[in-house]
Amino acid sequence: MDDSEINSEYYYKNHLLTTVKEDGKPYLLFGIPYNSDRGANIYSFTGKENIKTVRLNIQKKNFDIQEIRFNKYKKKSQSELDRIYKERKEIVDAKKTKYDSYPDYNFIIPVDGIVTGVYGTQRYYNGKKGNYHNGHDIAADTGAPIYAPSDGKVMLTGHYYYNGKFVMMNHGNNLISMFLHMDDILVAKGSIVKKGQVIGSVGNTGLSTGPHLHWSVLLNNHYVDPLALVNKVKVKLDN
Ligand SMILES: [Zn+2]
Repeated sequence: MDDSEINSEYYYKNHLLTTVKEDGKPYLLFGIPYNSDRGANIYSFTGKENIKTVRLNIQKKNFDIQEIRFNKYKKKSQSELDRIYKERKEIVDAKKTKYDSYPDYNFIIPVDGIVTGVYGTQRYYNGKKGNYHNGHDIAADTGAPIYAPSDGKVMLTGHYYYNGKFVMMNHGNNLISMFLHMDDILVAKGSIVKKGQVIGSVGNTGLSTGPHLHWSVLLNNHYVDPLALVNKVKVKLDN
């Protein structure tokens, strides 16, 4: 949206839209929800005094399908379930925490390695449709450095049940990156990080089957393809 009156915050379903600045002008960066229907979609952005609606024609991208077979889940204990619940809540709270800064949304790839998973793949677990893959996987040796893809502030780190050791970074105005399954974390909550700075190393912690980085990126609380920010594609809208 190129509108010089973007001087207040806009929300999409209660989630802050990221405002970026280019050539001194503010723009809203919107992450299209993965499950949007093909064809015309109307999205409403709520500001302090007005609501902006944007009509986007969505084309379906054909994502790959991946079959994953495993032996029956081990039933989780009550203490594991409690832990997962608590960790989920901490993540939700950290995602909502604001960091007022215009992001540099021209990202660099955080790990030098081999791509083993891409954004959007529809996963089937033992034949049952599951979640889509919400990030970009890069395999590398345990201990390989992970570089911040852009400047940002560390909002949360931890060693969680699913994520393993992870870092959540807010690149500014709630453009968020998550780095999962790390071996070592070299930044602390609240640190301001520079693009290219080493934030930790590749590992195999949490729900992971080999050393790799799972990197996911969120805009307005929706996962987007991290590579869209590495190879920025600009779409001009008329309204
Ligand atoms: Zn992954």
